[in-house]
Amino acid sequence: MLRQFELVERVMSYDPAADEDRLNRAYVYAMKMHGSQTRASGDPYFSHPIEVAGILTELKLDADSIVTALLHDVVEDTEGTLEDIERMFGEEIGRLVDGVTKLTRIELQSEQSKDAENFRKLVVAMSEDIRVLLVKLADRLHNMRTLRFIKSEEKRRRIARETADIYAPLAERIGLNRFKDELEDLAFAELNRDARESILNRLEYLKSDGEDISRRIIDRLTRDMAEDGLEARVSGRIKTPYSIWRKMQHRNVGFEHLADIMAFRVVVKDIAQCYQALGALHSRYPVMPGRIKDYISTPKPNGYRSLHTGLYFGPEQQRIEVQIRTLEMHEIAEYGVAAHWVYKQKDAESQQVEGRQYRWLRELLDILEHAQNPEEFLEHTKLEMFQDQVFCFTPKGDLIALPRGATPIDFAYAVHTEVGNRTVGARVNGRLVPLRHRLGNGDQVDIVTSKAQTPSPDWENIAVSGKAKACIRRFIRNEQRSQYLQLGRQMLERAFKAEGYDYTEKAVAGVLKKFKQDSVEEICIAVGQGHLSAREVVVAVFPGVREAAKPDKDKVVPIAKARRARGGDHFAIPIKGLIPGMAVHFAHCCHPLPGDRIVGIVTTGKGVTVHTIDCDTLQQFQDTPERWVDLGWEQDPGEEPFTGRLHLTVSNEPGVLGGLSTVIGRNEGNISNLKFTRRALDFYELLIDVEVSDVKHLTNIMAALRAMPAISSVERARG
Ligand code: MN
Repeated sequence: MLRQFELVERVMSYDPAADEDRLNRAYVYAMKMHGSQTRASGDPYFSHPIEVAGILTELKLDADSIVTALLHDVVEDTEGTLEDIERMFGEEIGRLVDGVTKLTRIELQSEQSKDAENFRKLVVAMSEDIRVLLVKLADRLHNMRTLRFIKSEEKRRRIARETADIYAPLAERIGLNRFKDELEDLAFAELNRDARESILNRLEYLKSDGEDISRRIIDRLTRDMAEDGLEARVSGRIKTPYSIWRKMQHRNVGFEHLADIMAFRVVVKDIAQCYQALGALHSRYPVMPGRIKDYISTPKPNGYRSLHTGLYFGPEQQRIEVQIRTLEMHEIAEYGVAAHWVYKQKDAESQQVEGRQYRWLRELLDILEHAQNPEEFLEHTKLEMFQDQVFCFTPKGDLIALPRGATPIDFAYAVHTEVGNRTVGARVNGRLVPLRHRLGNGDQVDIVTSKAQTPSPDWENIAVSGKAKACIRRFIRNEQRSQYLQLGRQMLERAFKAEGYDYTEKAVAGVLKKFKQDSVEEICIAVGQGHLSAREVVVAVFPGVREAAKPDKDKVVPIAKARRARGGDHFAIPIKGLIPGMAVHFAHCCHPLPGDRIVGIVTTGKGVTVHTIDCDTLQQFQDTPERWVDLGWEQDPGEEPFTGRLHLTVSNEPGVLGGLSTVIGRNEGNISNLKFTRRALDFYELLIDVEVSDVKHLTNIMAALRAMPAISSVERARG
């Protein structure tokens, strides 16, 4: 805390004509009135008005402003009255303190409509004397600096929001950029600590090599100026986290190097030298198009003057931003209106600037008088401060905002859908991490991709962002669709061929209505998914084809017919031990194959049903041994295909079904039927009927299927 003599000395140093006695009396009076009151920080309350006064001495404000700062909370927070102050310090001070007190009362209202209403009053009061606003801004700045001591989060957030919505924009309007930057950044720290921290982390990460680069740029620019005979002071300043963040939000730019978020400043003696310095830079470095701004010929409404340019610097063509100004312009850039107390006497020109500065206040009042809804105005000054997000960077320094809990998958999809689809891994801050890794603020994320990669259904559980989830779902859906399509078409082709026809889309197109499908593709997919059998389609296209002709259909096949089907006269019943003339059919529970040990069960009027010896269904016949018939296979079972039924558990991944049909096809098996018995997010269970020549054939196919990583189990269906 500033001691009494220090404060007085500071004011006297820039305003020797100040009333020293009055300053001393104000200091003592404030201390006495606030007495033993304490702040949330535990400090004595009177430290606050003294700090506020101290802040204003940095702006070299007149003694009236300093006295007002010392007394600004007396009326609101102590026994002291406005009359007391007027009596002791004069009418002028009374009027100023009254203005600040009114503003403070506005602050105590919390409802938004009140804020907007009172914001008008604030402007009215302020427009009478700019010093009221300056004291109020310094008051707010000190309160923001000590905001962390306030226990209630709700209160802290309200104050921070009000600062961001009302006070920071006001500071900017009067050109008080120093205050504006700090107020914004402090509000940002409260309202979006995560975003701010992510930027601070990023800065930290870049600082390792960044200091060198910026040092080199400063040295080089200084030399450039000296070469052209210009006496210049070159400096580099890192922008505030909030201004970096806002720039990234609005311009969608990243920062790869520290220099990307630095403003380099060249301060020279006079306006002529400003333009000379600009020439010196432009003759040495390529200029970024559209980045030259002459705020000297056309100052900003708040009085800001400077030349701005953007250059490509050095062999790396580093983009840098340079501001060129005189010392006076620099002071105004930092302190705006307040700087005019210093330059007030100097020349008539700044008098003009001052006139311009007050004009915006009048314009602002005008807008407020005519605005239909005061909240509408507040809306325009609102800052976007997002929460519940995590902020990460690409290796190029682009900011990617993601929901909290986001993983590299989310990041990859936020960068680009194609990047997401091809993600195989991620490096976070240079280290490889699993795809489940939760990203933190400020992480630099480098996505590793592979052309061979496709999204896995598991990813949907790993991703948290809507975009990633939707992209994964869409990809899986399309992928599965095309797998089913391919599989269904293959099955149809075989089914057609089995009846001696060629499969054509045209033929299938003729039966769309019957199956209530819109396209041949839909039919293929329905077959591939097992909703429709290929056989049904063939029968629909060629009504002459009888459904019963297939051995896998669990239909009675009279032996005589089976013989005929083989063609020719030679007797080729594959099963030994059958009763002549008796119908035979193969049990659909176990699908016996040549090579299997088999047994027959006789059912009166139906014939013999052939089961494998280990079929569970046989248990039902334990008590009726008279129905059992010993059967065996012929040496040469012939060429008629038999149907084996497999029960598979496969992981739900794109490409699995296609791979499955390829493996079976390559091993000369035909899929004649396919049915999903269970579909879960991670695994499918399905039954596949495969046409094979014998059990050895099926065993080979099972072995080939077990070799597929996506297939977790393959068993023959038993009962
Ligand atoms: Mn205060």
